[in-house]
Amino acid sequence: KVKNKPSVAPEQPLKDVKNIIAVASGKGGVGKSTVTSNLAVALAKEGYRVGLLDADIFGPSIPKMFKTEDARPVLEKVDGKDKIIPVEKYGIKMLSIGYFVDPKDATIWRGAMATNAIKQLITEGNWGELDYLLIDLPPGTSDIHLTMVQTLAITGAVIVTTPQDVALADAIKGVSMFNSKNINVPILGLVENMAWFTPAELPDNKYYIFGKDGGKKLAEELGVSLLGQIPIVQSIREGGDSGAPSATNENTLTGKAFMEVAGKIV
Ligand code: ADP
Repeated sequence: KVKNKPSVAPEQPLKDVKNIIAVASGKGGVGKSTVTSNLAVALAKEGYRVGLLDADIFGPSIPKMFKTEDARPVLEKVDGKDKIIPVEKYGIKMLSIGYFVDPKDATIWRGAMATNAIKQLITEGNWGELDYLLIDLPPGTSDIHLTMVQTLAITGAVIVTTPQDVALADAIKGVSMFNSKNINVPILGLVENMAWFTPAELPDNKYYIFGKDGGKKLAEELGVSLLGQIPIVQSIREGGDSGAPSATNENTLTGKAFMEVAGKIV
């Protein structure tokens, strides 16, 4: 349980943000952005003021997942300074490098350029007062991760993994990064995504395509909470592709599953 982390000094960026939550994965393609989007929607549904920073600079998927690819954030003078007004959808304030540059152009940026771009979104974004700012980190461990943990008072990290061995091995690296002495960001827990598949015509069957309970067992081994096991469901993929993450419909099983995960981090 984390609330209103007191260590956010007034001079630090995002001082009006009560909780900064980093969502990370070791491996790419495990559903980190899907989980982040759904958590943002779920927290907004619960009435929290939510922001979402897409820090996955070389593969920004937040604009697509919220169908806001065509949005172009504008500048506004706030206290005499130019601020970037975040794009808003479902009550969530969002900024992504994808709103400013063609992702193809960003892929050739050097590390320093990428980190500067992210820093700009953080310090020049007009985030205002938020209860939660979720940060969709790039996969793996990189300069961007270090910049984030060094410049922001991160409340905690959520690690997303599939139950597959290669994903778990990389998830462990992610956990050790946050746990390392000079970084020391608490792990809020682990989400096991793509945990199983149930075909519509065989509703009682679970197929453990990437292995059974890999994330659950890893959470136990590492002594971190298991925030949830999310199955592979076509509607989760469709929701991400159509700009309406599953959590926008809390009456569905998948919507409920993400609401439950969100309930464990507030
Ligand atoms: P990452 O951010 O880790 O690279 P994404 O969130 O972009 O991963 O997910 C990769 C792909 O898998 C996307 O097409 C997404 O829609 C799909 N996906 C993610 N989680 C699920 C799930 N639980 N069920 C079905 N499809 C999923």
